[in-house]
Formats: sequence, structure tokens, C-alpha cells
Amino acid sequence: MSPLHRRPSVQVSIGPVVMGGGQPVVVQSMTNTDTADVEATALQVHALAQAGSEIVRVTVNTDEAAAAVPVIVERLAQLGTRVPIVGDFHFNGHKLLRAHPACAEALAKYRINPGNVGRGSKRDPQFAEMIETACRWSKPVRIGVNWGSLDQELLTRLMDENSRRSAPLDANDVMREAIVVSALESARRAEELGLPHDRIVISCKVSGVQDLIAVYRNIAARCDYPLHLGLTEAGMGSKGIVASTAAMAVLLQEGIGDTIRVSLTPEPGGDRTREVIVAQEILQTMGLRSFTPMVVACPGCGRTTSTYFQELAEKIQSHLRQRMPEWRLRHPGVERMTVAVMGCVVNGPGESKHANIGISLPGTGERPVAPVYVDGEKGPTLKGDRIAEEFQQLVEEYVERTYGGRAA
Ligand code: SF4
Repeated sequence: MSPLHRRPSVQVSIGPVVMGGGQPVVVQSMTNTDTADVEATALQVHALAQAGSEIVRVTVNTDEAAAAVPVIVERLAQLGTRVPIVGDFHFNGHKLLRAHPACAEALAKYRINPGNVGRGSKRDPQFAEMIETACRWSKPVRIGVNWGSLDQELLTRLMDENSRRSAPLDANDVMREAIVVSALESARRAEELGLPHDRIVISCKVSGVQDLIAVYRNIAARCDYPLHLGLTEAGMGSKGIVASTAAMAVLLQEGIGDTIRVSLTPEPGGDRTREVIVAQEILQTMGLRSFTPMVVACPGCGRTTSTYFQELAEKIQSHLRQRMPEWRLRHPGVERMTVAVMGCVVNGPGESKHANIGISLPGTGERPVAPVYVDGEKGPTLKGDRIAEEFQQLVEEYVERTYGGRAA
């Protein structure tokens, strides 16, 4: 659990997952398959859940997608996956929920974007219809504002009000305020329509780091709904990871955020589970939650002229991830283990002693032996061609010995 002070919020249940009220920050993700393709979507949800996603959102944009939702939930049950599925609705959500009651029932939560529920006179009745459906099926709702689809009538109203002020705010500040007001007014309206206070989650996503921090500080001070945190359109590769981490780390450190999603754009054919791993790593490196044993590895330098130590660090990291589904059940606590893989004698023994188990490989010019440290004490020394396999075996034995052997 978090050592940090968390912003007080109400608890909201999303299926078996409890969010807010000081509960651990929940990791969630979203599929990028066509939801109408039952098998592809079920398999991707399954993979995301296996990677550690505790909630998975799917697009529900057509009749075919809505009809597929209950079948996907059934298929997931066959695969042994019971992760809550959230439906992402825009423009026609009211119609789809009305026409597909089995979809409305199968979903664990509805995401409603107040900027995309309808224009003019259609907006209020369409929003009301979705909220009434949520009430009928006892489902929570995320009021998910996104500045790319901000309610333009609201923005115009706030801009007009601002222009009449003696000291008008700049346009970006009005935009930030409009995002927060859109979320709060929609949540209030949902409660007036009968949705209980503890069935509402809020998000206010923007794509700029400073905007995200400002908007979430603002809304965190003005309500006690659980907050879904995420930088929208974070981008590809390291830029997406760095931007998401920079924004979310500041807020999480201040106790703001009850669930996170890292919205990475995958490389073509890339692995969607990457966003789950990044989200877990943000929380774990901040000391907020533990998911998988962490590998501490030095960056290498002129003392490591072969790639052997990088390969070993990589091999151990993927071995630990592969073993986690079984270890999670059989060895509770193993997720807090640290494993050091160090390149030479300069920092190798010291860093290895701080880890649960660590290995200090021989740097260039050192004797070709690799001492292993276990719980801070010098253990066996490995040498020869099978150092990687033997170290992996030592890690297995350490886990078995240290974290018990609960039957799977
Ligand atoms: S531990 Fe050794 S190999 Fe690794 S960065 Fe430090 S000096 Fe270089």
C-alpha cells in the first residue's frame, strides 16, 4: 500500500474491483481491436488481464459491437478471465444501450463523454437516457471529459463569462476550467437523475503535461469522486512513456489518482500489453504498489565490453514476468523481490547486497567468476558457460524458500 497521503474519495465498485477510498491505485487499459470481432477482442482482453490490467475498456460504437459484448464476456469466462469490461460510448451510446440490454447488463461500467452525447436539445435527453440505463442495471459510470471533444456550448459560455470579467483569464485557463466544469456539472446532473454518488468516477484528460497537472489539482480539490488519471494521446515509444510518467507521477505523489491508464500508441503490430506494464512500473517504481519482482541493473560502461551482462539482465527480467502468473498464486510477496544484475566489481557487490538476490558479473579484465549475494550475504560463485541458467535456478530456489509454497 501507498506510504503517501491519498486524497480522500468515495469508494466505487466496478465489478469485483474497488476504486477510491484509499484503495490501491487500479491499473486499467483499453483494447484496440474491432469489438465486433469477438475472438480478437476476447483474446486481447485476456492478454491485457494476464499482463495485470485490472479493468479493460472496449469501444462500443455500433450495433455489432454492442451485440458482441456479452459474447466477449462469456468467451472470457471460458478463458478463465473475469476482468471487468467497461464500455466506451460516444454519440450513439443511448441508442446502443437501449437496443442491446444484454450489453448494458454485461458491462461493468459505462464511460460517457459529456462532449459527445449529442448537440443542442438532444444532449440532455440522450445523457439522461444513458444515466437511467446505468441506474436500471446498477452500473457505475465514468464521466470522461476529453479536451479533444470538449462540450463546445459550455466552452463558449465560459469564454463569454470570462470576457465580461474585469481581469479576464487567458484562453488556456478558461479551457482548463471548462474541462473541470464539464465533468462536475455532468456528475451533478447524473446524481439529479438518480445515479448514486458512489457510482461515479471522473476523468479530465488532456494531452499536455502541465495542463493535466493543473486540471487534476483543480478537480481533486472540488469533489470527492474517484479520479481516473491519464494523459490522452500520450504518443509513441519513449515520448509517450516519459510524458505519461512525468504528468502522473507529480499527481500520484500528491495523492491524486485512483486508477491510471497509460495511453500509448503502439508501433504497428506492437504489443498492446506494453501500456499495462508501463502503468505498473510507474506505480511500482514510486513505491505505491508492487506487481512483479524488479531487476536492478547497472547501465554498463567501458568495463563491460561484452553484451553478456545486458543479455542476462534481459533474460532474468523476462523470466520473472513469465513466472509471475504462477508465482502470484503460489508465492505471495514475491512481487516485492528485487534482483540485481551488475556489470562489474565497482558497484556489483554493493548493489547486489541491497537486493534480495544479486549477481556481480566479471567486468573486462576481471577474473571470469560471478559471485552471487543472497539477502546481503555472499553466496555461491558461478563460472563457466552456464552462469545465466545457474543464476536463474538460484532465483527459483530463493523464491520457493522465501515466499512459501502455497498450492496453486
Ligand atoms: S557496475 Fe561496473 S559495469 Fe556497471 S556501470 Fe558501474 S562500473 Fe560500469
